[in-house]
Amino acid sequence: MAKIIDGKKVSAGVRADIAAETAKLREERGLKVGLAVVIVGNNPASRVYVNNKKKACEEVGFQSFEYAMDENTTEEQLLDLITVLNHDDRVNGILVQLPLPKQINEKAIINAIVPEKDVDAFHPVNVGKIMIGDYSFLPCTPAGVMELIASTGTDITGKNCVVVGRSNIVGKPMAMLLLHQNGTVTICHSKTKNLREICLGADILVVAVGKADFVTGDMIKEGAVVIDVGMNRRENGKLCGDVEFESAEKKASYITPVPGGVGPMTITMLMKNTLTAAKQQAGI
Ligand code: NDP
Repeated sequence: MAKIIDGKKVSAGVRADIAAETAKLREERGLKVGLAVVIVGNNPASRVYVNNKKKACEEVGFQSFEYAMDENTTEEQLLDLITVLNHDDRVNGILVQLPLPKQINEKAIINAIVPEKDVDAFHPVNVGKIMIGDYSFLPCTPAGVMELIASTGTDITGKNCVVVGRSNIVGKPMAMLLLHQNGTVTICHSKTKNLREICLGADILVVAVGKADFVTGDMIKEGAVVIDVGMNRRENGKLCGDVEFESAEKKASYITPVPGGVGPMTITMLMKNTLTAAKQQAGI
C-alpha cells in the first residue's frame, strides 16, 4: 500500500518559510512584498482561484492588489492596466488569471507583462530560461510536484520519469525540471502509442491529462512514485484526479491524493516566485 504524499503539509512548511523570510525583509529592510491579481469576467472557478491566491498572500504576509474587470473588457484596456502595473513599485508580481474572455488574446497579455514581474513564469523569456536551466521563477505546478517528490526522499538521478501530458503550463516544464535533476524523461501525449507499457516503465509517473481515472493500477510499476496533477469534477460534483486512486495506491510506493496533493503546492510556488521577484527588484 502506498504512502500518501500530504500536499497540504508540505505546502504549509514551504509557506511558513516564505512567511518568515517576508517578515524578516520587512523588519530589517522595510521591504513589503506585493502581488497584483487581475481577474476579467465572472468565471466561478477563476473567482475561487483568485480568492485562494489572495488568502495565500495574507497568510505569508504579502500585500495583494485585486483588479476585477468587467467581462466586456477589451484587450487594449487590459494592456493599459498591465502597463500601469509594470511601473507600479508596490507590485512585485503580476498574475492574470486565465482563461480570459475570447475578445482578449492571452498571448498578447502574457507577453506584455515584464518578465521580472511574471510570477507565473509564462512569458517566453522565463519559459526559455526554464529550458536552459538558468531560471529564478519556477513554473508553479511542476515546481510544486518537485517539492512533493523531494518530500518522499526519492533521488531522481537516473530514474525513469514519465510525464503524461505536454501542455505549456504543466507537461513540458515538468519534463524539464525532472531532466535538470538528471531523470531519464519520456513525455507522452494523445498520439503516444503503447502508453500503458511506457507508464509501466516509470519509476516516477506524473500525470497531467485532465481525464478522471485515466491512469489505472495496471499501468503502474510496483513501487513507483505517482503524482496526480489532474483536477476533474465527477458528475456528483466531487473533485478527482487523473489517476484511479484505489487501484494505483496498491502498486505505488508514494502517491498524491486529489484533492490535497498537487493543488495546494501550486499557489505556494506562486508565493515563492513573488518573494523572489521582490528580492530581485530590491537588488537582494
Ligand atoms: P491540457 O488540456 O492543456 O493538456 C492535456 C494533455 O494531456 C495534452 O498534452 C494532451 O495531449 C494529453 N492527453 C489528452 N488525452 C490523452 C490521452 N488519451 N493519452 C495521452 N495523453 C493525453 O491540460 P493541462 O496540462 O493544463 O492540465 C492537465 C490537468 O491538470 C487538468 O486536469 C488540469 O485541471 C490540471 N491542473 C492542475 C493544476 C493544479 O494546481 N493541481 C494546475 C494546472 C492544471 P495532446 O497535447 O496530444 O493533446
